[in-house]
Amino acid sequence: MTVRVRFAPSPTGMFHVGGARSALQNWIYAKQQGGVFVLRIEDTDAARNKPEWTEGILSALDWIGIARGSYEGPHFQSSYAGEHRAAAQRLYEGGRAYYCDCTREDVQARTGSQYAGYDGFCRDRGLPPAEGRALRFRTPDEGETVVVDLIRGEPTFENKLIEDFVIARGDGSPVFLLANVVDDMTMGITHVIRAEEHLPNTPKQQLLWDALGVKPPVWAHVPVVVNEKRQKLSKRRDKVALEAYRDEGYLAAAMRNYLMLLGWAPSGDREIVPWSVIEDEFRLEEVNPSPAFFDEKKLRAFNGEYIRALPIEEFIAACQPWLAGTGTIAPPPWQPEEFDAAAFAAVAPLAQTRIAVLSEIVSNVDFLFLADPLIDEAAWAKAMKEGAAELLDAAIAAFDGLESWDAESLKSTLEAVGAERGLKLGKAQAPVRVAVTGRTVGLPLFESIEVLGRERTLTRLRAARVRLV
Ligand code: GLU
Repeated sequence: MTVRVRFAPSPTGMFHVGGARSALQNWIYAKQQGGVFVLRIEDTDAARNKPEWTEGILSALDWIGIARGSYEGPHFQSSYAGEHRAAAQRLYEGGRAYYCDCTREDVQARTGSQYAGYDGFCRDRGLPPAEGRALRFRTPDEGETVVVDLIRGEPTFENKLIEDFVIARGDGSPVFLLANVVDDMTMGITHVIRAEEHLPNTPKQQLLWDALGVKPPVWAHVPVVVNEKRQKLSKRRDKVALEAYRDEGYLAAAMRNYLMLLGWAPSGDREIVPWSVIEDEFRLEEVNPSPAFFDEKKLRAFNGEYIRALPIEEFIAACQPWLAGTGTIAPPPWQPEEFDAAAFAAVAPLAQTRIAVLSEIVSNVDFLFLADPLIDEAAWAKAMKEGAAELLDAAIAAFDGLESWDAESLKSTLEAVGAERGLKLGKAQAPVRVAVTGRTVGLPLFESIEVLGRERTLTRLRAARVRLV
């Protein structure tokens, strides 16, 4: 039997990091089993039928390493409407489903609770189909449904506790529970690896598989992803969109490594490992069923390590979307006025060790490519205290007279200027740094000034001096 897994996102306009994690787990499982990965877009909700949302899913998968063309699909749930309706009809004709005209209020009035499930009122009324009547599945009164779950063992559900649930609405349209099962059946899915949120649906869905006479798939419900307060990651509260991480300058390799650690770890004491190790060692059966903490700080640290491990040319290339605004990333926060590739290459190794996400490259190097530095006023106020004007005067004079414009000479020159005033180098640097880069922190100052060049450095120091008058 060929293993066939599927990733079945409902388009929402953004790609949830939890979804990315499930997609990767499906992807690896298929690969390990010599199986097939199927992409199905669950777009039956008309409001979710936007082509750009599907495109967003394809490009997010692509980014994370599940390349277009290397899997089956995308199939679209909306194009299987005929199959969904036929299955509903079959269940009705076989006596496994019945029509019901109860309203929610009717059920509440009878059961005295808004939480009680359906009470079976229409079970034996023999209502024929009609507009406005929902189709309900007749769940067995006895026995139990045993779900075989690679991660959770064999969760067992008593059938008498499962209500007669709706499988098609009053307008005849099948609901998610049925459409999802029929699609899995039609697509020959053998293993359903999906988020834990769906576990409560599973006994119902397995009953549908049984009623439709097809052997149910093996299930694997992967743990819910939570924030530091142990709350399920939510798009209203948390940063959950994979695109947001991508646009901030997380590397795909760091991201997918991190996502695979949600509920699982490679052998030894390792966390940062090549993708090939994850592909070899990952075992779906070993995934921890408890909620997995999505730790953004840890992800940042991971990303910093991935950035530092890049060969310098790759680092330079990876920074380009932020530097030149080539448009591959959402609008860059900043457009350089005079981007100079050689100047950037000169400071890139210094920046590479200092940033955790690629977008931080901008605040580190913008001083090089702007006609005037962007002055951070708080930094200015902090650095331009008493004595700053005199120090700048002395620095201007000393720098102006320098024979060789290199980091070493610049450093020893400013050291001497500071010493004459009883200042350590750190103190003497502060006004110079703010005057030249606009900030109090950044790349090593003297290397920065060397690359900026004599002319521009002196112009900036003089401009700052004028402002201090
Ligand atoms: N479309 C469902 C979702 O996005 C997926 C259901 C499934 O994987 O079975 O949650």
